[in-house]
Amino acid sequence: FKVPQVDNEPLKSYAPGSAERRGLESALAQMKSELPFEVPCIVNGKPIKTGKLAKQPIPSDHAKHLCTYHEADEATVAAAIDGALKAKAQWETLPWNDRAAIFLRAADLVSGKYRYKLLAATMLGQGKNAWQAEIDAAAELADFFRFGVKYVEELYSQQPPKNSANVWNRVEYRPLEGFVLAVSPFNFTAIGGNLPGTPALVGNVVVWKPSPAATYSNYIVYQILTEAGVPPGVIQFVPGPPAEVVGQAISHPDFAALHFTGSTFVFKKLWKDIAQNIDVYKSYPRIVGETGGKNFHLVHSSADVDNAVNQTIRGAFEYQGQKCSALSRLYVSASLWNNGFKDKLLQEISTIKVGPPEDFGNFMGPVIGQPAFEKITGYIQAAKKAGGEILFGGTADSSTGYFVQPTIIQTKDPKSVTMVEEIFGPVLTVFVYEDEDYEKTCDLIDTATQYGLTGAIFAADRSALILATNKLRHAAGNVYYNEKCTGAVVGQQPFGGGRASGTNDKAGSISIFYRFVSARSIKESF
Ligand code: GLU
Repeated sequence: FKVPQVDNEPLKSYAPGSAERRGLESALAQMKSELPFEVPCIVNGKPIKTGKLAKQPIPSDHAKHLCTYHEADEATVAAAIDGALKAKAQWETLPWNDRAAIFLRAADLVSGKYRYKLLAATMLGQGKNAWQAEIDAAAELADFFRFGVKYVEELYSQQPPKNSANVWNRVEYRPLEGFVLAVSPFNFTAIGGNLPGTPALVGNVVVWKPSPAATYSNYIVYQILTEAGVPPGVIQFVPGPPAEVVGQAISHPDFAALHFTGSTFVFKKLWKDIAQNIDVYKSYPRIVGETGGKNFHLVHSSADVDNAVNQTIRGAFEYQGQKCSALSRLYVSASLWNNGFKDKLLQEISTIKVGPPEDFGNFMGPVIGQPAFEKITGYIQAAKKAGGEILFGGTADSSTGYFVQPTIIQTKDPKSVTMVEEIFGPVLTVFVYEDEDYEKTCDLIDTATQYGLTGAIFAADRSALILATNKLRHAAGNVYYNEKCTGAVVGQQPFGGGRASGTNDKAGSISIFYRFVSARSIKESF
């Protein structure tokens, strides 16, 4: 067995009249005619219907729900952990080739047989338009599995550099002792697959708690992994109330690692809870998290206006600003702002259509749910109160779906609330700086927030790019020149940030795999 050359999944465009458009439309129609689905917990390969029912609403039409799911109760979580630990011995001693083959098969199922179904579930359940669903649930998910196989092969083929005469040294990358807890977010179906997939690829067993708002798409991912050959018990699917399921798992002596994507608040809380339990565990747990962001675009006076505006619109408003990487603070030079940037930005934003994501003409869909809707509209009100000027949008309507209009706020106060706090919605706050204050603005960007996820610098003048890059060493884990701050591609831009944005272990790269193995050195003398 040799790992084939891997490449990024080619993207489909879903152009009108294309076969792929017809395929996706019929998957959507079928899903709509069959919903709501019933989703059980899956423990040791067997469905468990706890009868503790919860619903995943459709955010663009919240009177309907995509699925009803059985929440894991205490006995189910206990059985999931127990069963995972029992499945461990066989899974970790399975030849690596076999694990690799399973994940390559899973990638092929994502890109082929299940593509439209995954997209339809992501569109209806998580409110993504077709393009946003394609780059996530088809491309990135398949990429995580395929590139994961390549990185694990690289990891295993590393050896210590030096042997002396009659000595053979080697290093074995063992999976962690215990189980990994994966807690995945609503905003990327691909992350749903990656959080359990990455640790499992290196031989770990995983208890996976998906986001309530992504239950159905994540259940399909689970089914794909099973069909690809992940044996019963290796990944346990336990949707349920976060506090209970996660709380129970992190109190277990065999808890070995947390693989988390979600809010900064929850991650910090879990970290503290884990610290409280430290005496219970057999090993120090690995804590891997990707959390919030307050991502920026810095536009220098030398920048190309058309490009910077276009990238700004996409960075801030694609998927309704609900990517951890989404743009939410824009620092733009006064000379550009007053000479075309502002007009062009307002002109471009006025063309954005907001509505149900399965209507292919809509650039934006709904935000994920009622709490998100309230939080976002609350921030818009707070910005107004603080003297921010609403340049566009500012309105919202949740009568049928949770729709928030794309909103641009201009502020004179770079420390104002919407310049500093994460909103996770389609709200962009603009601060216009005097051209000669470019360097000072870098300092402002660096110190204004607690985050460090993504940022982009727009300039034709290369020295302006370099200056900002050097000054902003820890303000972003992913930096883009003359391109929006979202859309990292697996295998191309390893993704993640530091500060309050996460442990920066870089999803989509070899680095993250080191967090889920425990190396053992073996020396043999002859
Ligand atoms: N990797 C995604 C991007 O670069 C963001 C992932 C997230 O929102 O967690 O846009």
